Amino acid sequence: MLDNTHENWKSRAAGLSFPGQAFIDGKFTDAASGKTFDSINPATGEILTPVAECDEEDVNRAVAAGRAAFEDGRWSRMAPGDRKAVMLKLADLIRENLTEMALLDSLDMGKLVTDAVTVDAPGSAHFFQWYAESIDKVFDEVAPTGPGDLALVKRVPLGVVGAVTPWNFPLDMATWKAAAALAAGNSVVLKPAEQSPLSALRLAELAAESGVPDGVFNVVPGFGVTAGKALGLHMDVDCLAFTGSTAIGKMFMQYSGQSNLKQVWPETGGKSPNLVFADCEDLDAAADMAAFGIFFNQGEVCSANSRLYVERSIKDAFVEKLIARAQAMQPGDPLDPASKMGAIVDEKQTQGIMRFVEDGKKTANLVTGGDRVTVEGKGCFVQPTIFDDVSHDNPLARDEIFGPVLSVIPFDTEDQAVTMANDSIYGLAASVWTDNLSRACRVSDKLMAGTVSVNTVDALSAMTPFGGMKQSGFGRDLSLHSLEKYTALKTTWIKYKV
Ligand code: NAD
Ligand code: MN
Repeated sequence: MLDNTHENWKSRAAGLSFPGQAFIDGKFTDAASGKTFDSINPATGEILTPVAECDEEDVNRAVAAGRAAFEDGRWSRMAPGDRKAVMLKLADLIRENLTEMALLDSLDMGKLVTDAVTVDAPGSAHFFQWYAESIDKVFDEVAPTGPGDLALVKRVPLGVVGAVTPWNFPLDMATWKAAAALAAGNSVVLKPAEQSPLSALRLAELAAESGVPDGVFNVVPGFGVTAGKALGLHMDVDCLAFTGSTAIGKMFMQYSGQSNLKQVWPETGGKSPNLVFADCEDLDAAADMAAFGIFFNQGEVCSANSRLYVERSIKDAFVEKLIARAQAMQPGDPLDPASKMGAIVDEKQTQGIMRFVEDGKKTANLVTGGDRVTVEGKGCFVQPTIFDDVSHDNPLARDEIFGPVLSVIPFDTEDQAVTMANDSIYGLAASVWTDNLSRACRVSDKLMAGTVSVNTVDALSAMTPFGGMKQSGFGRDLSLHSLEKYTALKTTWIKYKV
């Protein structure tokens, strides 16, 4: 049983050792330059550990290791049942080390440790298990060519998959990419976000312990403009799976065009609308989930429901409910199970959020929150913040803030709600609250989003694809469809005598 007390989490954190080296070809190693950068805990400002600052030379070494492994088939041609067993073992090892994995993310990027230990870390184990189990259950095709011809249509691994991930769900974003790419038989070179490299490094170590052969899963911590760019421009990387901002997603498309035409799968930003209709019967549940949808993980969620469209007749009453919920979610020490919100990932992100908030105070109606705060005199924390009567063209309603800031916008008709919801460069997710079945279906059909959640928010599972439309990118993680990103269709046509 997990002893879920503040004292216990603090003592576990104090006893933790941090991985600080790159993981290349099955071994922890320093960067070739010897350089390091600091991994910082945003809740305290303390340095957790120096981390190897990888650059082009290290990326080259990792890609070469991945290529060598792919070529000799130690993973790519391992019997599917054996690959499955290794990945199932990895899922078990993550479960055995659940509190450690949770702490690494919580300390590195400020999320609540209780969320990390109940959502992120078990999620990682589950996704590895799910993809492991797919390995010997996905079949290829035989084309109906007729006698004398046997045309096999197979999905084959691509080779070396580069993955570049953000800091908001460090372990899970690494997992979403690596689990599917490895299940398909590829080698992986992962560059985690510089704000939160620790859990990915430990994951690579656990993968090796579970039997993933040397060179198959490499992690190169470092900065985007150096290590990330080197991976994007690499001539021997076959596929680049990216999750992060829209601006950097566009850069990866350019890197591909400037180099070897590698496949690029961008999963990028969002400004997801949440539509609450007056015919929703359980407005308390809608308010609970609307608050969760923007304040969970400090609002640092790509699919966060940051635009709330409420039918005018219920708007004021609904906002009252939201204010009460926001005020009950004040930030606190991420290691304290009593805290309802953690720390913002770093100083830069905190200042960026506060710029939106300060501008918003002049252009919209601040109804709760609006301040940066400290916990025990330290850290990067922002109150859950709600702006009401936000005009549709206000940056609060248009730009991805990536923090605990909700914009409320009233609407009068269904058409108007749908039009405003779709008037965005993004199309990652959307939510609809109504008990009118026809309206639920009609509105869901019209919303341009990769996932529409009806009478819930952020519906997500290993079984269903996750990703966006428009400038939220076209990559899809999760589900069997994600395997398509990491494989090529290959036809083998055999003539035989009838
Ligand atoms: P970011 O785009 O700044 O960074 C993401 C990754 O790209 C990091 O590893 C970073 O080092 C790297 N990078 C940065 N600049 C680079 C460059 N010039 N060349 C190569 N690599 C570079 O994003 P972030 O601030 O870490 O994360 C927040 C963003 O991620 C938000 O926009 C959020 O919506 C998005 N996100 C999307 C999803 C999704 O599935 N759609 C999930 C989580 C986060
Ligand atoms: Mn950090």
